[in-house]
Parts: sequence; C-alpha cells; structure tokens
Amino acid sequence: MKRLGYYNGKFGPLEEMTVPMNDRVCWFGDGVYDAGPCRNYHIFALDEHVDRFFRSAAALKIEMPVSKEELKETLYSLVRKMDQGNLFVYYQVTRGTGIRKHAFTDGPGNLWITLNPAGISDGLEPIQLITTEDTRFFHCDIKTLNLIPTVMASQKAEEAGCMEAVFYRPGGRVTEGSHSNVHILKDGVLHTAPTDHLILPGIARAHLLRACTALGIEFREEAFTLDELYAADEVIITSSSHLCRHADRIDGRDAGGKDPVLYERLRSYLLNEFFTATA
Ligand code: PMP
Repeated sequence: MKRLGYYNGKFGPLEEMTVPMNDRVCWFGDGVYDAGPCRNYHIFALDEHVDRFFRSAAALKIEMPVSKEELKETLYSLVRKMDQGNLFVYYQVTRGTGIRKHAFTDGPGNLWITLNPAGISDGLEPIQLITTEDTRFFHCDIKTLNLIPTVMASQKAEEAGCMEAVFYRPGGRVTEGSHSNVHILKDGVLHTAPTDHLILPGIARAHLLRACTALGIEFREEAFTLDELYAADEVIITSSSHLCRHADRIDGRDAGGKDPVLYERLRSYLLNEFFTATA
C-alpha cells in the first residue's frame, strides 16, 4: 500500500477511509496526536513519541483504547504492509463517539493511524522563516488537535514563500515554530525556550540537547527574544519531520549563517544518529 489509513481496527488505502460523523474530533477537535519518521521500516524514537502521546491523552483524561505495547505492535504491523519503508507515521486518539455535547462521552477513545511516504531533509539547504504573534492558548505542551492558530500561521508562511512561521508572545519572547521548535546559537552557546506550557517539548529538541551534551556544546533552556533571534549566529529549527534545519532569512532579512561550523557539528551528529538507528 502507498498511503494507509487505520481507524479502530479497520484499515485500507487512506483515500478510501471514512470515519463516523459523531467522532468527537469533528465537533471539538477533542483529541491528541503524535507522529514521527520511519526509515527502512524502522520507526525512529518510537518509545519517546509513544510516551508523549500517552502523556498528552492523560492530560486531557482521554481513555486510551490500547496499551503502549499494543500501539507499537499495531504501528509496526501496519508499517510492514507498506510498499516501501520511508514513511511519516502519524497517530491520534479522539475522545470517543457521541451526539454533540461538551462534557465527556463515556468509554475509550478512537485510535487513528496514517502512514504516508516521506523522507527527512538533510538539513544542508537553509530555510526561510516569518515571525507571527503567538495567539494560541496556554496548553501548548499538550499535543492536541486544536491547531487552527498553527494552520493560519503555516499558511501565512507559505504565502510569504517561507517554510515555517516562528511564534512570539507579546513582549517579544520567541516560543516555537508553528510545527517545530526554534533554537539559536550565539557565541558558541545554544539557546532554546524552556519546556513550560508555551511550547511543545519536541522529541527532536530533546535529541538536539543530547547532541549538545555529547559534543560538549553549552546549552541554556531560557526564553530568548525576537531581537536575539534576528541577531543570532545561527537559527536552528527542529521537528520530527525534518530533524534539524537552519534558516538564512527571517521576515525578509538575512539571518544566521555566522557559525556554520557549529551548526554542521550538530546537524551531522543528529543525521548520523537517525541513519544509524534506522539502518
Ligand atoms: N512544536 C510544535 C507546535 C509542533 O507541532 C512540533 C511538531 N510535532 C514541534 C514543536 C516539534 O516536535 P517534535 O520534535 O516532537 O516533532
């Protein structure tokens, strides 16, 4: 199969799958998700993603329909049905099915899985960014399906010919990208926003910080501002879709590009880790 869709035990070609109209995701976006890359039929960092998925569900009191082990087995059994093993593995759980009412419906959630062909970027070619005010709510640490602000920000970036929108809160604190984490290098030190309720604790971010430790690069988990972003030696964007990329333009101005050696050490470490784990 080229693209696969799964819903509560049923699966088939993604384009042919249908879901019940009363799935609470249709009324309220009532669910959480997680996702990561797969190469050569090996799903990368699966335990970390599944742990976060269960944490997100627990934060919203969604009853999981499967255990962590069952989910991993299901993901692998579906991945093995695919024509090729370079994929983006996406899963979400929604809070069951029921006539629309705000308070919870009883019973376990609905499990959705999609598999789509994908490859990660090698992180060599710089990307372009815009910035936009972060008008999201205060639960950004939970990976919920309420993604309208990030949809609007991503569209704004696309219309500006850019790859990603970087969010900032009033006062200028940079939080994260619309679907990535944002970090800067300045004078040999990596700065990244702390994992409070304003950002998603990215799995690729965690790998970046572990890379810093392994390579002896100092890092600080402290908020940084838009001005610091514009003046950074390098601007690094991480996410599970593309692991590690750097930016050369922000809001139409030149950015980063002043510490290519340090960026390259991090990029090659992270790519190596990915290729080794999925060989
Ligand atoms: N922040 C947001 C808002 C995201 O959607 C993502 C992508 N999942 C990330 C950060 C990066 O997280 P990860 O490295 O786990 O993909």
